[in-house]
Amino acid sequence: MKDFHVHTAYSDGEHSPREVIQYAIKAGLEEVAITDHDTLDGLEEAIQTANQLNMALITGIELSVDANSSHILGYFFNYKKMQEDPEYQEIISKIRRAKRTRAAEICEKSKLDPILMQDKQGNNYQITFDLEDFGDRAIYTGHFGAKMCQVVEQNLGVRLDVYDATHLFFKAKKYEKFATTKIKDLDPNYNSAKVDGEKTLLDYVKLEKDNKYWHVSEDKSAYPSAKEAIDLIHKHGGIAIIAHPDEGTTRERVEFYLGLGANGIEVYSPKNNGGIPYYEGLVKKKHLIATQGTDWHGKTYSPNKILGFTGAKIGKRLDAISAW
Ligand SMILES: [Zn+2]
Ligand SMILES: [Zn+2]
Repeated sequence: MKDFHVHTAYSDGEHSPREVIQYAIKAGLEEVAITDHDTLDGLEEAIQTANQLNMALITGIELSVDANSSHILGYFFNYKKMQEDPEYQEIISKIRRAKRTRAAEICEKSKLDPILMQDKQGNNYQITFDLEDFGDRAIYTGHFGAKMCQVVEQNLGVRLDVYDATHLFFKAKKYEKFATTKIKDLDPNYNSAKVDGEKTLLDYVKLEKDNKYWHVSEDKSAYPSAKEAIDLIHKHGGIAIIAHPDEGTTRERVEFYLGLGANGIEVYSPKNNGGIPYYEGLVKKKHLIATQGTDWHGKTYSPNKILGFTGAKIGKRLDAISAW
């Protein structure tokens, strides 16, 4: 069993590379690829751990391209050479800067207009952020989600799914879930004297109606083009794979990326909604590489995913990189 798409805390994952390798061993994986967003920084620790614990590790990266509308996975490249390459450094630092600028604005907004919470005893709490909370790194919305979860858990005793929480506070699309789901169903381990499990979280957390008041748009121009990303991966001896195409990438764009030299498609992804037979057919027809990965972000960050399993959607174990 193999999993070629896993994140660590060096991007927006929950665990250190060391812990990820340990989880991969526990899950019985034979091979794992660490594919952090827009950074190679976690690979050193991952390689050391993999060597110590005798785990097969594939060096990987997931580059956000074309205004972050699509993701390109890279594997098997010489990561040290890539890390020293000024082109890589330029790409990465542009993204990092844009993300920090955006994060600084979100922190400002949070202080001007904090999210207010009140428990059933009438104690008041608020959620605000400081840029210093996040250290010197690219800051993702998931980091804000994680921090929100911490504050909610500390003060209300309710443990939220980090990604749901991120959507709740930044986007409207998951708002309904929080407005309609009882706390005891939201958190299966709910056991808090501070809130009533029969109520919804929104009875205790006050959000504006469209809950978009902390939303800050990204500077999309900071991202490289798909061509730049694919060329960078190839330059260092790697293969470039179009990540989870059903999330954000149109089928036309998949063809376009293949035309740019992408070597294959992440066909087996829980994010590929119904697209699997189509992409399977495409890679077979064009003799490309099909990869398989869960896009696991951590034990509690990805509660519905199991390392090495694509989950209910295709109900199939991840076994190998296949080249047709
Ligand atoms: Zn992705
Ligand atoms: Zn990913």
